[in-house]
Amino acid sequence: MTKTILFNLTQPEIEKFITDMGQPRFRAKQISEWLNRGAPDFSVMKNLPEDLRNKLSEIAETLPVKIVKKLESSDNQTTKFLLELNDFEQIECVLMRTTYGNSVCVSSQAGCAMGCKFCASTLLGLKRNLTINEMFAQILVAQWELRGDRLKDIHPNGDPNNNDVSHIVVMGTGEPLQNTQNVIGFLERANKELNISWRRITISTCGIVPGIEELNQWGRPINLAISLHAPVDDLRSQIMPINNKWKLNEVLNAAFNFSETHNRQLMIEYILLGKKDENGETYLYNCTPEYAEKLSDLMRGHNVMVNLIPWNSVDERDFASISGNAVHRFQDILIKNGIHTRIRRERGADIGSACGQLRLKNAKNANI
Ligand code: SAH
Repeated sequence: MTKTILFNLTQPEIEKFITDMGQPRFRAKQISEWLNRGAPDFSVMKNLPEDLRNKLSEIAETLPVKIVKKLESSDNQTTKFLLELNDFEQIECVLMRTTYGNSVCVSSQAGCAMGCKFCASTLLGLKRNLTINEMFAQILVAQWELRGDRLKDIHPNGDPNNNDVSHIVVMGTGEPLQNTQNVIGFLERANKELNISWRRITISTCGIVPGIEELNQWGRPINLAISLHAPVDDLRSQIMPINNKWKLNEVLNAAFNFSETHNRQLMIEYILLGKKDENGETYLYNCTPEYAEKLSDLMRGHNVMVNLIPWNSVDERDFASISGNAVHRFQDILIKNGIHTRIRRERGADIGSACGQLRLKNAKNANI
């Protein structure tokens, strides 16, 4: 028998479910409160009688995502979750505790169809889009990790280690702008129910132009991030197949238009990729000084922040990490040209926090 996922039911449906079990109606309200706090199972619902908790565990689940694995980075600032959906697909979600708040990196699809050559998420192809509930539940998993069964107002004067999720980045597995309407539905809900302001929400895309236009029409002043990774079309097409459909200038025009309309700084993501020659020496692939100049030309005069991302190595991918010095040399050229730039701190590299690494590893183990 498949278990009913209570989080996917409306409040009247939960009430019917509970009263059909011969329970009083007020139990439904108690259960909903636990669900909205991200309760991973029924055993934590301490204000329910034990036999009801046991009965519920047999016939129902709480959330539409279940934690399969949880990894903590050595500095305890990053927690990565491998989550299973009710059709056994797996996704990843990452909680990052930062000085400005608690940020959750959310997956928008199981797998990915985009085929970027440096990325692990796309190696097994696209399985399916995630639902609004499956994205929202990722936030609740992180919320439970931060807060457990403690209620928010236990620290009315502000806990210095604030236990709220404050930021959302849709930058996990999948391409959000292939699932735009569900992503919008999810973010509308996060804004309304969790009070996460638009300025603290970022969507990252590889450059689906009609999707960027859809976001523009939606009209919320969120942050947009573009995975650029190359400043010229022929190089970009080699590592990002989507560039054969929408060229650099089309993507950038749509993105600049979005950021100007909403008066937000555009984020550009640029992974620094090396390759190995036949002697095993690493050479610069997309991060030579010439490419730094070309990237500067594209950015000049626009309100952008170029995030330089050291590549998290993926065994199956034919690239190499470059030295810290080479990263700084690339950055120095951007700075000299007056372009805002920073180097993204590697978060949780020790726990395979780059896109799709954990999911891939688990799928491969399952095949052995
Ligand atoms: N599909 C969306 C969001 C998911 S990828 C997009 O393309 O933006 C999130 C970011 O991680 C992208 O910038 C992606 O290019 C980058 N990324 C993917 N694999 C990576 C790796 N191995 N190391 C570092 N960054 C990676």
